[in-house]
Amino acid sequence: MIGGARLTIDLEALAANYCLIRDAVAPAQVGGVVKANGYGLGASVVAPVLIAQGCRHIFVAVLGEAEALAPDLPSGINLYVLNGLMPGTEAHCAQLGAIPVLNSLDQIARWSAQAAVLGRRLPAVLQVDTGMSRMGLPADELESLLADPALLDGIEPKLLISHLACADAADDPANTLQAGRFHEIARRFPGLPLALDNSGGAFHAREHFDLVRAGIGLYGGAPHDGPNPMRPVIALDAAIAQLRTIPAGAGVGYGLTFHTERETRIATIPVGYADGLPRCLGNKGAAWIACVRAPIVGRVSMDSITLDVTDVPEAALYPGAPVELIGPHQSLDQLATDAGTISYEILTQLGRRYQRVLLPATGAATTRSIAP
Ligand SMILES: *Cc1c(COP(=O)(O)O)cnc(C)c1O
Repeated sequence: MIGGARLTIDLEALAANYCLIRDAVAPAQVGGVVKANGYGLGASVVAPVLIAQGCRHIFVAVLGEAEALAPDLPSGINLYVLNGLMPGTEAHCAQLGAIPVLNSLDQIARWSAQAAVLGRRLPAVLQVDTGMSRMGLPADELESLLADPALLDGIEPKLLISHLACADAADDPANTLQAGRFHEIARRFPGLPLALDNSGGAFHAREHFDLVRAGIGLYGGAPHDGPNPMRPVIALDAAIAQLRTIPAGAGVGYGLTFHTERETRIATIPVGYADGLPRCLGNKGAAWIACVRAPIVGRVSMDSITLDVTDVPEAALYPGAPVELIGPHQSLDQLATDAGTISYEILTQLGRRYQRVLLPATGAATTRSIAP
């Protein structure tokens, strides 16, 4: 292994997760959210897998991501920019053929003006705020828009969307409230296709409108706080770089924040915070060696961590011996929980030094369940 660790990306599992969400929300369609470089896995790696499963709607966050991905997409795929239309990017966005999510009257006005300049209609998504107070038309701007439909001159609305603040907690009353408001607003845009749910919302027991915007669930992260129905997509495997035995009372790592209470076997693993392993895992998280949990002791360094491997069988301890950071014994979500964060952050911080191995989608996942 020439990097600190090997990141394995199982594209068959990705395809299977797409199918699982598709079956959960049918007859709604599923769009793939591949922002932040496909949640760290590579947008140009994951998007073609989703498209091969029949996905026709791809979402990124910013225009630069759309620009990078557009050449990899076949024609007929809708490429949306979630964060909206930043001032000065209108011509660029139109030229790319990307579909901006219009989040304010200001963005609507600029897109309408761009359509006038080009002398053709430009597609767009309209986002309304149903309670998250982050993006989308607030109530007063929505009323202004409905009072003056000419504001949409030159704009071809393709989709009306909103976003859930608490989708990961299925029972949170905010979900019902937001879905109700979305319904009310949707009645005032008759005929316009609707999209409210992310991965979490896809598993709420209600209708899913016309399109679901799935992100984390595709990549194997838990979509909600219940048992995770998704297949793991990534595995992170490292190898022991060095072993030592230290006496009771010895300090370990920067700041000597850990002191041994017994004679201790320490294994040094060449993966650190520069690889996306959060520094707050110091003296908190663990790795697994030969099915034994080996706690991280001392601080996480830039390029390495130190594990207490005293309880690991000696036969499994040698330079180059395999160490699991994410895999069958320790899920992505477990690592995130140990670090006090969420799977999204672990994925999007995955380092650039890993040796990346892609397991191809064999096509087995493409078998569609036949409707009765
Ligand atoms: C990131 C994002 C999604 C995808 O959310 P997941 O929880 O990852 O499924 C959907 N919609 C919007 C507006 C987003 O910003």
